[in-house]
Amino acid sequence: MAIEPIETELGAEAADKPVHDIVGLGIIVAAVLLFVANGSTVLTDFLRSVINGTPPREPMLSVALILNIALLLFGWRRYVDLTKEVGQRRQAEETAHRLAHTDPLTGCLNRRSIGPALEEMIATARTTGHEVVVMMMDLDNFKRSNDAHGHQAGDAVLLQTAHRIGEILPDRSVMARLGGDEFAFAAIYDPDHVDAIDRLMARISAAIARPIELEGVVLDVTASFGLATSAEKANGASEDIAAKLMHRADLAMYQAKKSGRNRYCWFEQSMESELRFRSELERGIRDGIPKGEFVPFYEKQVDLDTGELTGFEMLARWKCPKHGLLSPEIFIPIAEEIGLISELSESLIRQALQDAREWDPRLTLSVNISPLQLRDPWFAQKLLKLLVEANFPPHRLDIEITETCLHENIGVVRTLITSLKNQGIRISLDDFGTGYSSLAQLRTLPFDQIKIDRFFVSNLGKNKDSDTIIEAISSLGKGLNLPITAEGIENTQVLDELRKYGSFKGQGFLYGQPSDADSVRAILAEHNLLPAAPTQEAPASLDQPQPPRAASA
Ligand code: C2E
Ligand code: CA
Ligand code: CA
Repeated sequence: MAIEPIETELGAEAADKPVHDIVGLGIIVAAVLLFVANGSTVLTDFLRSVINGTPPREPMLSVALILNIALLLFGWRRYVDLTKEVGQRRQAEETAHRLAHTDPLTGCLNRRSIGPALEEMIATARTTGHEVVVMMMDLDNFKRSNDAHGHQAGDAVLLQTAHRIGEILPDRSVMARLGGDEFAFAAIYDPDHVDAIDRLMARISAAIARPIELEGVVLDVTASFGLATSAEKANGASEDIAAKLMHRADLAMYQAKKSGRNRYCWFEQSMESELRFRSELERGIRDGIPKGEFVPFYEKQVDLDTGELTGFEMLARWKCPKHGLLSPEIFIPIAEEIGLISELSESLIRQALQDAREWDPRLTLSVNISPLQLRDPWFAQKLLKLLVEANFPPHRLDIEITETCLHENIGVVRTLITSLKNQGIRISLDDFGTGYSSLAQLRTLPFDQIKIDRFFVSNLGKNKDSDTIIEAISSLGKGLNLPITAEGIENTQVLDELRKYGSFKGQGFLYGQPSDADSVRAILAEHNLLPAAPTQEAPASLDQPQPPRAASA
């Protein structure tokens, strides 16, 4: 089923205009005039001469008449041929025009033509005191359903959805498919009745929610919408307004996606400033890595039974020239999104290995690794190269991978972990308790320790569920013979609670805030844990694997 293309100036432009061949028509008209002027006399004379067998009185005129008739026939032929040819060419041009301006699957306008259509719409609406609302739509999980049911099913979903929305939109609306599962709709509305848009959205949502049946398969579709209106202050020429509206609706749609999908969000001014802040951060990260603005901070890790320091966890910080010291929770996700996480992480690990070389050799260094880095087939090689460069013993390095990594590609993670372990590097499962990893996974992956997420630890004694979870993790650790580190120990009450459940290692603000390399050096010097010269332990080697060794302090 196809959606009727929306009639816009662009679409209507080539409306049927008769096409004539002027030359052919001119010849015919001249020939007809000539024929009418001379034809009757000459024809009578010519016929008489043929019947009587006498020569015509005016032989020249008879020849002219024959020529005249030939001219008439020739002119007509040429007229017919050319008219047909021009008609065909015009049809081809129209097809090319339609293909260039509409989406062949749904018949909606395409990305190129929505702009001009929208400009026209805004200009028209404003002449009658109306405004235009732009609705940007993106289907939720379309890719997944496309992968699961095939592209034909995907096409059917796009068609059905476009068709259902097309039936609901008021007259003179515009529909465009911008690509993939992304659509833009625009409708004229009365600014005194903005609630009409909410009603329209409710109807659209209900229409989309009706399951789509396709050869025995029932598909449920939801979509996220972003709305922006021309009533919102967006001054400028109508073409600027059209572009701005699309951009704003897009930002609002992004917000709808972020807030959980299957909903619509109105554009708000703050979205633009957020976007500006975000691009500023992106630029800052790009420029800041080579400038050395990203530095390692360190958080103490302690044996809770003996109170001894066992090592440090490296936590990234950004000394941002504009915003001061920024948390990794702000910049790590952005670095991941813009593809700079490996570069950033390598630079931090390089600095951390240099710092940790100076520490007492019994102290370990833990580093956090992003799930994206685990997908890099060269990750193990890169890490070993850093160890060799820094001449740092692999058994002192502990890689923390979060539990959520295990869902992504368990096969790849297993290979990676095994190869890192073969080099003597230790592996911890971070944020345990948040990611639903199964017991089977824990058994088959050779972790060296589990870290209980700080959420459960900080809630010990306050929340019964946290108590139960910690108890369960503790017995799991005992069963699997895996040491456990509790994160986020903020005070002695939590520490006392924790001790009820067994032996743990721990870290948290109770032992101090994460601090920079100089402060760590000062603390270690105070406790005689800073040998004068960098340690001369066996260097990491790519071809001489080190056996894993338990850290002791
Ligand atoms: P994480 O691995 O769970 O790190 C522990 C976080 O808990 C740190 O936050 C730390 O400052 C905070 N914390 C420690 N003790 C306490 C406490 O007693 N109470 C509370 N409320 N919080 C505590 P931070 O430094 O902001 O790091 C946040 C997250 O960023 C880390 O969580 C880690 O997942 C990630 N991250 C940090 N550095 C890196 C890095 O170099 N690479 C990657 N991929 N991720 C990193
Ligand atoms: Ca961690
Ligand atoms: Ca953690």
